[in-house]
Amino acid sequence: MQELLFLFQTQNSDSSIVSRYTCDGCLETVTIRRTKIIGGRDKGMEKDLPYGCKCEDLAIAAQIKGRRTRRIQLKQEEWFQHHSTLNESQTTATFDTYVPENQSQQEAKLVAMDYANNFTKDKPQNLLLSGSYGLGKSHLALSVLHQLISAGHSGIFVSVPALLTKLKATYKKDADASEDEVLEALIQTEILALDDLGAEHRGSEGGSWATSVIFQIIDMRIGKPTIYTTNLDGGSLRMRVGERNFSRLMYNTKSLKVTGTDRRIRHLL
Ligand SMILES: [Zn+2]
Repeated sequence: MQELLFLFQTQNSDSSIVSRYTCDGCLETVTIRRTKIIGGRDKGMEKDLPYGCKCEDLAIAAQIKGRRTRRIQLKQEEWFQHHSTLNESQTTATFDTYVPENQSQQEAKLVAMDYANNFTKDKPQNLLLSGSYGLGKSHLALSVLHQLISAGHSGIFVSVPALLTKLKATYKKDADASEDEVLEALIQTEILALDDLGAEHRGSEGGSWATSVIFQIIDMRIGKPTIYTTNLDGGSLRMRVGERNFSRLMYNTKSLKVTGTDRRIRHLL
């Protein structure tokens, strides 16, 4: 405790000034004053002490800001885990782990990175990644999400077929969550990835229900950015969802087709 009991006698007369300099750290003018210690272990001694340096204050402020940022990241990570439908391999999908195998995948990676780097809530844009199975479209969508979540944004990734299964489960009597709760999160979140659009089961009635659920979400998210992935080409997607829904889906949407060989079966061929 004695160590902390630093009591200075501040002498304001110019005669106590030893030197002045500009601190490299805080850019403040620091004055070195010859100061008589009036308490503590060094009582009675004279020391040259710096006055005016803000480095310590700035370090404390930076530390507090860092802790706050980390807290927001953890909260967003928790939100993402809770609301997303993820399989084992998807938890580690980032840009670092996406290895392009051809020109098309390289371009898709650059477009997705560009999308993440230029993400802003004020000018929301959607992204549609199309192409056949196994080209890493979901991986790229997840990479965007992981980057934005680290930056403090809220994000959810859902596979459309898994989402529909989850919604059906909410209709049961002893369901954990209500349909409204599930939909509310998807509408609220800053960035949403709807993975595998058009792959939902198309029974005669199930199909129209699925389509109406998806477009309820898209409709409610107008003005908020969404990433879509689909295995269908433009024409098939248009037929699947109908003309009106298709034009709503494509509004303010950057569309990119990924080509190549399924990376999951490629090594078996
Ligand atoms: Zn300083």
